[in-house]
Amino acid sequence: MVSNPTVAEHYLAPLTKALAVQELDSFLMEDGEEHKSLATLERILARLLEGGHTRSSVIVALGGGVVGDTAGFAAAIFQRGIDFIQVPTTLLAQVDSSVGGKTAVNHPLGKNMIGAFHQPRSVVIDVDTLDTLPDRELSAGLAEVIKHGLMADRAYLDWVEAHIDPLRARDKPSLVKAITGSCRIKAAVVAEDEKETGKRALLNLGHTFAHAIETGLGYGNWLHGEAVGAGLVMAADLSMRLGRCPQPEAARIKRLVAAAGLPTAPPADLSPDQFLALMARDKKATAEGPRFVLFKHGPGAAELVPNIPQGPLTQTLTAAQSLCA
Ligand code: NAD
Ligand code: MG
Repeated sequence: MVSNPTVAEHYLAPLTKALAVQELDSFLMEDGEEHKSLATLERILARLLEGGHTRSSVIVALGGGVVGDTAGFAAAIFQRGIDFIQVPTTLLAQVDSSVGGKTAVNHPLGKNMIGAFHQPRSVVIDVDTLDTLPDRELSAGLAEVIKHGLMADRAYLDWVEAHIDPLRARDKPSLVKAITGSCRIKAAVVAEDEKETGKRALLNLGHTFAHAIETGLGYGNWLHGEAVGAGLVMAADLSMRLGRCPQPEAARIKRLVAAAGLPTAPPADLSPDQFLALMARDKKATAEGPRFVLFKHGPGAAELVPNIPQGPLTQTLTAAQSLCA
């Protein structure tokens, strides 16, 4: 079992008891995005070898996306790949990172740059674990929930919008519905395009901007979901400037992101030039420049758009900057 001290304090003992296996080793990695690293990976691998683990060992990842991504990558490469089970304990991990089989660690030159596709054998979600999750982390998870509605399902988006207050208040039936709805959308996209040659890229709505924010600020200053919140507003703004989203819909998205308790603009100290330089390094960038996931005609359906004209992009970056000023 791989976890971290924050999560282990609440859930390691109950999960250990529930698993009722004869042999269980646990490894607690340090808490924080900066520990989603090659160094941590190496320690997990060493621990597996020291413990005499074999190809029939199974890794259980108990925690948020950081634990899930790191432990999942260890499972992907230990003895050429062993089984793993995701037990996500943050809303973000429950609606997003635990489903889909992307595993990775960060490199100083870029987020998630070292990793593998490796599907978990199963994902076990206990919504009661969200009771101990800090408010800020809950909001970060809501960013991905909103994203799923924006990219794929207008009716789901409308439901999320109508239930944003109960969701923030941790109303259990609302959380179950959001987790189920988001997992269904993500699983359907991944089932169609596991290795991201096409449709899966649509899950990156808002993420070209978000990754630039995260890299520009250094890991750990903004939560991933917070950067996604601002990124979704910027993607809506760019969509609007390219005739792909009516202005009132872009304004509505911004209100929803704010109602979820998320930032609606990037940090003031990231200039448009810095943004452009950071986005040019994005995994999704081509020789012609960054590609963006944008709405087709408004929220509810998205597509990957290459060769974005420089003018509207600069306008979006400048408008976002003047917002935070
Ligand atoms: P995280 O794993 O850092 O967890 C956030 C914080 O909450 C941590 O301090 C953690 O210890 C704590 N925590 C976790 N569960 C808790 C609980 N139940 N109660 C109290 N505290 C708890 O962050 P995250 O937002 O879950 O994941 C972010 C990571 O996920 C990023 O590295 C991102 O790149 C990755 N991610 C991966 C995918 C994917 O497809 N693999 C998708 C989205 C995001
Ligand atoms: Mg994300």
